Amino acid sequence: MTALRPSDARQDSTALPPNEVCERLARELRAHTQGEVMFDAASRGRYATDASIYQVMPVGVLVPRTAEDVSRALAIARQLKVPVLPRGGGTSQCGQTTGAALVIDCSKHLRRVLAVDVEARRATVEPGLVLDHLNAELRRHGLWYPVDVSTSAQATLGGMAGNNSCGSRSIAYGNMVHNVAGASAWLADGTLVDFGAVAAATGRAQGIAEFVRRLAEQHRSEIEAHWPRVLRRVGGYNLDLFDPRSERPYTSDGSVNLAHLLVGSEGTLAFTKTLTLQLAELPRARVLGVLNFGRFHDAMASAQHIVKLGPTAVELVDRTMIELALANPAFRPVIETALIGRPDAILLVEFAGADKAALLRQLQALVELMGDLGHPGSVVQMPDEAPQKALWEVRKAGLNIMMSLKGDGKPVSFIEDCAVPLAHLADYTDALTEVFTRHGTRGTWYAHASVGTLHVRPILDMRRDGAAKMRAIADEAAALVRRFKGAYSGEHGDGLCRGEWIAWQFGPALTQAFAAIKRELDPDGLFSPGRIVDPPRMDDGALFRFAPADAPRPYRRIPLQPALDWSAWNVQNDPLTERITAPGSGGDATQGFGMAVEMCNNNGHCRKFDAGTMCPSYRVTRDEQHLTRGRANTLRLALSGQLGPDALTGDAVAEALDLCVSCKGCKRDCPTGVDMARMKIEVAAQRRARHGASLFDRLVGGLPDYAHWASRLPALMNLRDRLPVARALTQRWLGLSARRTLPRWRRDTFWRTRERAGLATAAQTLAAAPMAAVLFVDTFNGCFVPGIAHDAARVLRAAGYTLHSATRDGAHLCCGRTHLASGDVDGARTHLRALLDALLPFADAGLAIVGLEPSCLLTLRDEALVLGLGERAMRVAKQALLFEEFIVREQRAGRWQLALQPLDQPLLVHGHCHQKAFDAVSPVMEVLRTVPGARPELIDSSCCGMAGAFGYQSHHDDVSMAMAEAALLPAIRRQPEALVVADGTSCRHQIADGAGRQALHVAELLARQLVPRT
Ligand SMILES: Cc1cc2nc3c(=O)[nH]c(=O)nc-3n(C[C@H](O)[C@H](O)[C@H](O)COP(=O)(O)OP(=O)(O)OC[C@H]3O[C@@H](n4cnc5c(N)ncnc54)[C@H](O)[C@@H]3O)c2cc1C
Ligand code: SF4
Ligand code: SF4
Repeated sequence: MTALRPSDARQDSTALPPNEVCERLARELRAHTQGEVMFDAASRGRYATDASIYQVMPVGVLVPRTAEDVSRALAIARQLKVPVLPRGGGTSQCGQTTGAALVIDCSKHLRRVLAVDVEARRATVEPGLVLDHLNAELRRHGLWYPVDVSTSAQATLGGMAGNNSCGSRSIAYGNMVHNVAGASAWLADGTLVDFGAVAAATGRAQGIAEFVRRLAEQHRSEIEAHWPRVLRRVGGYNLDLFDPRSERPYTSDGSVNLAHLLVGSEGTLAFTKTLTLQLAELPRARVLGVLNFGRFHDAMASAQHIVKLGPTAVELVDRTMIELALANPAFRPVIETALIGRPDAILLVEFAGADKAALLRQLQALVELMGDLGHPGSVVQMPDEAPQKALWEVRKAGLNIMMSLKGDGKPVSFIEDCAVPLAHLADYTDALTEVFTRHGTRGTWYAHASVGTLHVRPILDMRRDGAAKMRAIADEAAALVRRFKGAYSGEHGDGLCRGEWIAWQFGPALTQAFAAIKRELDPDGLFSPGRIVDPPRMDDGALFRFAPADAPRPYRRIPLQPALDWSAWNVQNDPLTERITAPGSGGDATQGFGMAVEMCNNNGHCRKFDAGTMCPSYRVTRDEQHLTRGRANTLRLALSGQLGPDALTGDAVAEALDLCVSCKGCKRDCPTGVDMARMKIEVAAQRRARHGASLFDRLVGGLPDYAHWASRLPALMNLRDRLPVARALTQRWLGLSARRTLPRWRRDTFWRTRERAGLATAAQTLAAAPMAAVLFVDTFNGCFVPGIAHDAARVLRAAGYTLHSATRDGAHLCCGRTHLASGDVDGARTHLRALLDALLPFADAGLAIVGLEPSCLLTLRDEALVLGLGERAMRVAKQALLFEEFIVREQRAGRWQLALQPLDQPLLVHGHCHQKAFDAVSPVMEVLRTVPGARPELIDSSCCGMAGAFGYQSHHDDVSMAMAEAALLPAIRRQPEALVVADGTSCRHQIADGAGRQALHVAELLARQLVPRT
């Protein structure tokens, strides 16, 4: 049976109000709220998508500063009859936060914890608060909010309540509906209503409760007949709140709570002002058993028995995910600890609580159960938390690896949270696998086996035949859900994707009852129209982000000749084997640049604030515009002509990229590897080609070209810092911040003093292999801090190495980094060609090219490979190592011997962003640990905020310092007696400017500790 399809004649759900209404709305919001009001095409475009396949342009965006702003905005929108769409992190997977409405983003300012009642274990919060941030505050009370969604670092409590979200541990703690104790929310008419215990309800709340109770009574037999009896049912409204059909009661004391009507209502009934949450005790101990199954079917069949042991989680990882983890060097050692042989699937079974001994007994019971079920010797026991944590990370990362599939076909989320009773899980998964095969695709299975909700995403190409396949697969999956008496919508909500399946699941009478609830609370359809009630068709191409050719506005990329080589993304994939075609064969009119941009699937991971670098500019601004996702969306809209002609080189794109510090945090931390720093170079090149270069760009980009002669005139060149008037003028003319000093020019550059470095000739160096290397001295260290290059040479020679340093006519060779940053790709290519010419003979002889400045040396391993320099670049890249990487490599080869004096000072280390992006921070720590007595401590910091020339620009002053103040500078100030190690020139400058401390390069520190020769 197919879904009761909404009529095609339904009102166009993408239609916007007339222009004059939009303009008046913007005017009034600006006049009557203190919030940020954004009605320009790029801002609207950034709010037109969430983590779903959909895109609908909103009327405009309001980022309220206060609750009062929301209240006023609702009144204005009501008066102008413009719908309103509440939004948190925008990580919904079904299009809940896309709509032709005024989007109100609560995540930037409305994020306070208002009260914590430790005794009653309750917290009251604003809706824009992120779950991890709440839990960080609760930890000191020994409490947590246990709805542990995978997006905990970016999902807001308001959004979680909106979607009735569920975590991996829902079998122990339930969904949001089981953990919300109250809500204060505005109705469409502006009334602020306290939704709480029905027994205590008065006034409007009492009226609503009475209305719902009567409605439920009228529909008792329909509820009995159609309501799925599973924990994971999130579709429709919670009309069952007076008589819960969930496997778990909604409240622990059986009372009825009207807030549960709002939970899962996806912003369609009221706008939440505050939420009161029921907290749980933080488990003091956890143990994990990893069950290995030779057959996927057996894993599925076992789940129903395992849950009887009372686990807090039972999570599936299937063969494909295991293979993906094994193929990844970082995950392989971790996943191997969990495997016995080559299993077809593993189940991660966790027990958590206060008493470790009791948990170990449960683990033992699990081992016995597996024996009873015919799987003896199949359990890997993990009683300690460190290996457990590592394994959970792999489980999470599996989805990310899967989502990084290149090509237009992508794993699409639309039936990935059907929930079936555990007794039928094995049959359901077998049958759905057959469905995929029939449709020429396949699914990778993972996640919540404990509650019968398994995530699975078939690969579909939504620009071509994806919609038809999605419909066909959805129909067949639904038939299976019905056969096994499950819930079609079991975790991520209804949105645009599953709205039409509400009628299928609940039948016409209950669908009408849902409409009656909507009419009662929101008679004029102010809130999120077309969601839950009157939904559009899930496969309406007009709603797709990548609209197909037959849609009113098909998605297409405007032809572009990129400056960099993006052909690795210009590929297609086979949905069955996931094999990708040869680079350059994908048929992309932008030669792969557009396809690289489209790798962003809007999952919002870049909104996280925890460890890692991504995304420093978002961390200090909390603006969607200054976020990797916002930038990728801006680029996608520009490349597909949705921001008007020539938008790629226009202001909207420039503004979105302005605060990107090119830290490459996203290249490493983004699940799909979106490398915004590289994209920024491409845009800078396109912009330069169209508009020419600014004076600032010429000055900074061309620095390596004039550094040699400029360093002959240090007194003149340094005047700018000494004369306040010169500072003021360079700020006015060049945009150089008057508050900043510039790196000091000096005559005694490394190249003019290179005889002190004891360098050998090329022939001597080649002859001395393997105890030999080539020191690549970059412009910055060589010109401004030559002592670092000399110290590096001293250290390497003290360790017995013969050193050479390639030069051109006695001056330095350059990696082209500054040219790239200013969009001068040709200039960079010219420099790199010369550098490769000089380094290639050594690289081909197997000698390491040792660099000191992370961003310069790593250019050889990164951008140099996409400049059309052929495999020569690859040969040099293979030998290019940072100073500390070289030392670690030599230590491992047993060649490194260096006598160092002990150090009795605390040692703080700040990793340069590019070191972090290339996993090159641990070698720094390893090298520092070779100093006797040294206990280096890594500062948990994101970007320092200087980022090459970024921090020197006056319009970046505040943002640059805010980035440094986020973690780095306070950590340094806390330890005034510590030595600080920072390998990046600009990082050291920022530390000097912000904390008044002179940080050292690791080479300087080692040189200081060398045992003097006797
Ligand atoms: C990779 C990935 C993994 C995920 N894993 C999980 C998971 O483990 N479990 C899970 O349940 N979900 C998961 N999700 C889905 C999503 O992250 C969750 O539903 C999350 O709770 C949404 O939070 P948000 O802040 O992004 O909300 P949004 O997407 O911004 O909003 C969600 C809904 O709440 C409404 N809303 C927001 N604020 C308000 C308000 N103030 N008043 C009224 N309504 C409001 C919105 O209108 C919308 O309908 C995942 C998504 C992704 C991309
Ligand atoms: S940029 Fe990466 S992390 Fe951010 S939303 Fe896109 S895919 Fe996710
Ligand atoms: S390069 Fe850094 S600042 Fe730019 S988008 Fe990526 S994480 Fe953010």
